[in-house]
Amino acid sequence: MLNISQKTINSKVSCNSVGLHSGAQVKMSLLPAPCDSGVVFRRIDLEAGKNEIKANYKNVTTTNLGTTIENEHGAKVATIEHLMAAIWGCGIDNLVVELDGAEIPIMDGSSEPFVFLIECAGINLQEEQRRVIEIIKKIRVEDKDKFVEIEPAKDFSIDLTIDFSNKQIKQQRFDYHSTFTSFKNDICRARTFCFKHEIDHMHSLGLAKGGSLDNAIVIDEDKIINEGGLRYSDEFVRHKTLDFIGDMYLAGHFIVGHFSASKAGHGINNAFLKKLFEDRSSWRLV
Ligand SMILES: [Zn+2]
Repeated sequence: MLNISQKTINSKVSCNSVGLHSGAQVKMSLLPAPCDSGVVFRRIDLEAGKNEIKANYKNVTTTNLGTTIENEHGAKVATIEHLMAAIWGCGIDNLVVELDGAEIPIMDGSSEPFVFLIECAGINLQEEQRRVIEIIKKIRVEDKDKFVEIEPAKDFSIDLTIDFSNKQIKQQRFDYHSTFTSFKNDICRARTFCFKHEIDHMHSLGLAKGGSLDNAIVIDEDKIINEGGLRYSDEFVRHKTLDFIGDMYLAGHFIVGHFSASKAGHGINNAFLKKLFEDRSSWRLV
């Protein structure tokens, strides 16, 4: 990741789909952005000047069933993690994401359609060099039986474990090493998942209104309801790795270090970034 140019996309690309939780149709466009601008969300249905939200951990307001960011004017965007993972996986530094609603379209519940969009737009090498967050010392955050930890390393890698009592999932561990093609081959197709017994509860809270078998794996007791089954035998842990990558890209830069995590989720992921940036002796921008 060192000594390489910043990247954006070549041209504007758009897609339409429903928001997983809102159920509302959303049109989303990805646009090229200048060097050092990072990833910025723009709500085109809201007043100009108050409608931009930077993709940064400091702007995270909700981590219940997805990551939501919000600016000081109350403009928010929900369920950003699968798109953020795709932007990371394609090595994009700078991008504008325009939306006419408050939630990123869920597409098929994975990052693959977003990777496809970015590839359709093409990648543009920019004049400035990329700066990355290099980890200098170990940082760990714990919450009961969950933890997220990072230690210094030459590249980006994750050793992630999940543990469910459900027989379809049980304990799964995934050891991810970032290479040019590994995100696309090993991670990006893994879909989000939920349990059938949770769906009524989520609906009663006004959530998952856009959820269907076209955008989530649904597990009923010990069966997977989706006709096509799984895309990877360990699709669940791969999806959690995808979510983790998307949340960590809210650091605002690519991170170079080795992560270990168990039962990680959007809440602890955000707590981890807050702790990392509070401790100025644990990292440097190079
Ligand atoms: Zn997810």
